[in-house]
Amino acid sequence: MSDAAENGIQARIRAMDERVQGLRDNDMYFYNKPVSELKGSAEVVIDGRTMLMLASYGYLGLLGHARINAAAAGALQKYGSGTHGVRLLAGTLDLHLELERTIAEFKHSEDAVTFSSGYVTNLAAISSMVGRHDVVFCDKYDHASIVDGCLLSGAEMKRFRHNDMEHLETLLRRYADRSTKLVVVDAVFSMDGDIIDLPRTAELCQKYGAQLMMDEAHSVGVLGESGHGVEEHFGMQDCVDVKMGTLSKTIPSVGGYIAGSRGLINLMKHAARGFIFSAAIPPAQAAAAKVAFEVILDEPARVGRVQRNAAQFMDGLKRAGFDTMQSETAIVPVLCGSDEKAYELVRLCQREDIFVLPVVSPAVPEGMARLRATVTAGHSAAQIERALDVLQKAGKQVGLI
Ligand SMILES: *Cc1c(COP(=O)(O)O)cnc(C)c1O
Repeated sequence: MSDAAENGIQARIRAMDERVQGLRDNDMYFYNKPVSELKGSAEVVIDGRTMLMLASYGYLGLLGHARINAAAAGALQKYGSGTHGVRLLAGTLDLHLELERTIAEFKHSEDAVTFSSGYVTNLAAISSMVGRHDVVFCDKYDHASIVDGCLLSGAEMKRFRHNDMEHLETLLRRYADRSTKLVVVDAVFSMDGDIIDLPRTAELCQKYGAQLMMDEAHSVGVLGESGHGVEEHFGMQDCVDVKMGTLSKTIPSVGGYIAGSRGLINLMKHAARGFIFSAAIPPAQAAAAKVAFEVILDEPARVGRVQRNAAQFMDGLKRAGFDTMQSETAIVPVLCGSDEKAYELVRLCQREDIFVLPVVSPAVPEGMARLRATVTAGHSAAQIERALDVLQKAGKQVGLI
């Protein structure tokens, strides 16, 4: 390093080093821990200890499913470990088209397209639908990939208060004369576990001539009697124009998708830069994703199980006196208030081999730090009881209940 004054990049590197080291020194660093083994559908080995996993997005417990593993292994044998590049040129496999057909059917849409990740999907989809002179409306709690997609698009971005339909209407009315309006929301909000008011959102989009895009990362497999997501939950159909989802949560693979009209998908396949300029989903992952959707249909009991497990966990927490905020899904926040209390609660749980994680500012507003647990279909009733026992003891020790 030169003797010259520290530049901006060097300053950022040093600041982050100090911040992370500070957390480590205070036993408050819980991130990037390597899992070394799966043990059944609810336990993992971390740091040599078998822990009950309560931070997984694998809501239906499909990670490690024999049929999905076999499909991945078969595709690896047949096609190798990658593709010949991007989809538009030599990277498309028949497997990708089969996966997209499966997704389109699952989402009751005409067609679907996949991308290399959910994050890329939001960037690519939003920026290929709207641009300068257009307006995009987002919930304040929308996922970062939606925010980044809006920024990338260059469209004017208007954020409404969380799930506040009056505020959304005020904004839509203000921009009523704009010809191109897109509303983008999460179906289930990833930090709070609450559900978008879809009936009202759809009604407002209709009224003001806006297109509706829904991010279903945390709702597929979780909402609706058969796990089809937010529309099934509300008993609605054909009200979401752009159905986005990930292949890395309930679906135990990697990638993201958009389902919608044939024309929309054609636009994505020829105009979305995240599709054109980024590699295809590898064969094993595409095959795993396709079979995972089939498993959801073939083993419908899993959906009921995640819903019952979430209810058991949430009821137990509430009975113990915890504040689980507005959650109605498998994402269960346990409000702690200060960052320190969240760290302390997590530390006590992890000491008892319950793997949960803290969410602190700036990911959530100051004073709203929480432990965030996720429940899956892979948990047994006894495992959930054990987690509740540990949380109750820890909560008392920290002074939360
Ligand atoms: C996880 C997530 C994404 C990104 O998906 P990846 O496949 O992990 O890139 C997008 N939106 C929401 C709401 C998410 O929770």
